[in-house]
Amino acid sequence: MTTILAHALVLTVDDRRRVLPDGAVAFDERSGRITAVGPADEVTAAAPSDAAIVDCTDRVITPGFVDTHVHLGEQLGRGLVPDHAGPTEWLPDWLFHLYGALEPDDERTCAELAVAELLLTGTTTFCEAGTLLDWRAAADVVEATGIRGQLGRWTSDQGPDGLPRLETTRAALDANEAMLDGCRDDYGDRVSASVILLGLGTASEPLLREAKELATDRGAGAAVMHASVHPDHGGQLVPAETLEELGWLDGATKLTHAVYVDMEDVERFAEAGVRVAHCPTAALRHVKGLHRYGLIPEMLESGVPVGLGSDSANGSNHFRMLQLMYLAATLYKDFRMDQRMIPPETALEMATRQGAACLWLDDEIGSLEVGKRADLVAWSTEHPEWRPLLHPVQNLVLNAPDRSVESVWVNGQQLVERGRLRTIDLDELLPRADAAASGLLARADLRAPWSWPSEGPGARGHHG
Ligand SMILES: [Zn+2]
Repeated sequence: MTTILAHALVLTVDDRRRVLPDGAVAFDERSGRITAVGPADEVTAAAPSDAAIVDCTDRVITPGFVDTHVHLGEQLGRGLVPDHAGPTEWLPDWLFHLYGALEPDDERTCAELAVAELLLTGTTTFCEAGTLLDWRAAADVVEATGIRGQLGRWTSDQGPDGLPRLETTRAALDANEAMLDGCRDDYGDRVSASVILLGLGTASEPLLREAKELATDRGAGAAVMHASVHPDHGGQLVPAETLEELGWLDGATKLTHAVYVDMEDVERFAEAGVRVAHCPTAALRHVKGLHRYGLIPEMLESGVPVGLGSDSANGSNHFRMLQLMYLAATLYKDFRMDQRMIPPETALEMATRQGAACLWLDDEIGSLEVGKRADLVAWSTEHPEWRPLLHPVQNLVLNAPDRSVESVWVNGQQLVERGRLRTIDLDELLPRADAAASGLLARADLRAPWSWPSEGPGARGHHG
């Protein structure tokens, strides 16, 4: 069955970056693939007689967003870490305890809450950050909700005191192998996996080498959090040269954060085809110093594929890609006092086609082109923030509200309709998430400190 979304303004983000003011996108629900993109009159004239034509007047259609770095498992601890907790406190004092107490049911609820937020804000594909304790819990949620997900499990064989889920090198490798095989054999093609290490400081040299070899052997990508903590805060600098010695400097590598790098690193990343996940909201809140160190404009200029990542519920605190694009398109203008830094068009590419490249899925998703997966978002312009529609890309990146996500399709299946989820029952999920969060925090013996006093019904003792 063919569906045609007709008379929308279509931002294809294809190789020519075509914009179709009265455009249409046709897709086949069975194959989940796009069958035509073009002016509405041409696409409808060439359509099969039984095609369902949906009038998308006052809609802007874009490719679904790709979030390249999402920690699903922190959702039930959102807002737990005090705002003032510094880089040396928030992991050992808070998040290690939270992750240490997570159970598979919690991870399932976390994933459902995350997927609901992602879909309602226009993201159709996410890559887990490599902190899944039970990857099958997340894979089941991806399968059931209809979103597209690339999964990564918690992988570390050394680390500081209190780091949860340490494994032997052999166990970590075997478990990754089982995940790669399990995602391939037991789930549909919306579920994929890559080998994702927690960090360079929490993996031994044998683990780094063999994990990369395993990924290469299986044709999967490999990712690691890189240069995300400043040396003054206990982080280590890992230059491109060291990555090369470890076998990690190639096009099947994704580095997340990559804040503390120099131009020589950037050039070597570009030459090798290394991909970078940029997480602006987490960087701001975790005081990474993007204004001083971030070389994202230079990476883009050099041809490094740079995607956007929303990171975690105690960093970003949200998965709203519109805000990530807004920051990408504005921060560096101010930092460099140069209006030409990262135009809105580039920010939209980072959220779509470049993000797809960061997950090695750019042949399948990231733009609206015939043959690609029908992962797309229809934005309603029937909101004051969208009017007038003088410049659709500026409107989308700088001023569109999240609530203008009207419809979302993944693989040709409609998952959001008139702003409501079709595969997740929020009325059932939200109270279940609250109850799960209470149980989790009680087991972890953690409580979000409030700075202000609480009084009246529901009051609690406070400490700041
Ligand atoms: Zn992260």
